[in-house]
Amino acid sequence: MRKRLIVSAAGALSLFLAVPASASGFQPGADGLGDPYYPTLGNGGYRVSHYDIRLKYQPATDELEGTTTILATATQDLSRFNLDFALKVSEVRVNGRLATFATSGDQELEITPARPLAKGSQATVVVRYKDVPSTVEKYGGYTAWRRTPDGAAVAGEPVSAGWWFPSNDHPSDKATFDVSVQVPNGTQVISNGILTGTSSQAGWTRFSWREDKPQATYLATLAIGKFDITTDTTAGGLPVYNAYSKDLGDNADAAKASVERTGELVDWLSGYFGAYPFSSVGGVVPNIGSSGALETQTRVFYGSGLFARGSNTSVVVHELAHQWYGDSVSLSRWSDIWLNEGFAQYAQFLWSEHENEGTAQELADYIYASRPASDPFWSVKPGDPGEEHQFSLAVYQRGAVAIQALRNTVGDETFFRILKGWPTERRYGNATIPEFQAYAEKVSGKKLGDLLNTWLFTPGKPAVGPSPAGAGAVASLAPGAGRADGQLPAEPKSWKKIQEANAAHADRK
Ligand SMILES: [Zn+2]
Repeated sequence: MRKRLIVSAAGALSLFLAVPASASGFQPGADGLGDPYYPTLGNGGYRVSHYDIRLKYQPATDELEGTTTILATATQDLSRFNLDFALKVSEVRVNGRLATFATSGDQELEITPARPLAKGSQATVVVRYKDVPSTVEKYGGYTAWRRTPDGAAVAGEPVSAGWWFPSNDHPSDKATFDVSVQVPNGTQVISNGILTGTSSQAGWTRFSWREDKPQATYLATLAIGKFDITTDTTAGGLPVYNAYSKDLGDNADAAKASVERTGELVDWLSGYFGAYPFSSVGGVVPNIGSSGALETQTRVFYGSGLFARGSNTSVVVHELAHQWYGDSVSLSRWSDIWLNEGFAQYAQFLWSEHENEGTAQELADYIYASRPASDPFWSVKPGDPGEEHQFSLAVYQRGAVAIQALRNTVGDETFFRILKGWPTERRYGNATIPEFQAYAEKVSGKKLGDLLNTWLFTPGKPAVGPSPAGAGAVASLAPGAGRADGQLPAEPKSWKKIQEANAAHADRK
């Protein structure tokens, strides 16, 4: 249906081109990209190729002053277009000329350029702003910007950009980033990618970061404060940059014992997922108290509370797995969140297997057997969980069991070819679950619709567990039963740490 609409639109366009273009053909861009869960996220009518974000931040007052320059290309004749932004704006220029602007909705900034933008033309949009981000609440009282004792940190899914830069805030429009932030001397700034330089002047120091590969807006992060920095190079030659707030207290050592293994773990994951897609890697642990974590591109964001119960390499594996599944290959729509979370959780299963703390099969069997059919866990469809259940446990756990079921259906050799081939083929792009299915069917030569329908798109506990076909007790059980002897399988040794990582996600919004 969608395809047919595009074809007829193209036909209509060729008619328009036959007559002289007139301003009357220019229309406002849509205020959203039509995401099934978040219809007003992102905007229609243009695509962004680059964000240049220049900020000045004063930790004492939480005052943020910024100029963001956006390079965009119009995808239709535009009389007006929107950006998504939550802070107070003082000036907007489009192609050098002052533009008029207004705000609406949760974070819509409506911009009317002095001259309309023709389809296919490039535009330079400069937005100046000043605000106190921690006081700005959107989306029902949520703020992604958190003050810390010595600075601030921002991360959030599905939205966080609006508290520090204007954007086309949807993962289907990825761009490269330059982030340059001026802070009082003695304070540091951590962001994505490579630190390209620092310079000091009149009591202020500027930190300039560059992410040169396409990045979704929600994967951009910023942490400002006083940090212990460690830098290194992985055995595979990748630069590592980790930052730990100086006031992590009792959590500091556990944080380091986890995040300092980033280089080792990213090299290990490359064996499953193919070459690491970005030019740097690392983590940042700001002192935000929360135990949330987010796979911010190249620089994973870990809440300090995550390490209150000791180290957790499983969560590091999870967030690093997202660098392939989520960051390099990103969602086209939020309803396909399984493509991110199912695979990141499955990477934890692989790590458990590697550490002899339970095989992926044992973990899948355990999840399947330990939850009775009456458990609401089974009512969530990982392949389309709905906005309110987007980050529910089922997306992760049932989602990973689905991947084990896929592994058993196609066999190990084919499965690992899919696991590595998909992020290689779709590198730096976007994807949907149907596209993944088509890819897995092409590689395996098997029809996978029934399998994925059962595990991802059908509410209720699947009648047959994720055991290898024709083998194992679980497959022969009645729906909802435990093992034939009434006993649960033994809890895999890795289970507690895997669950802590799941809690980290539930807590991050
Ligand atoms: Zn995740």
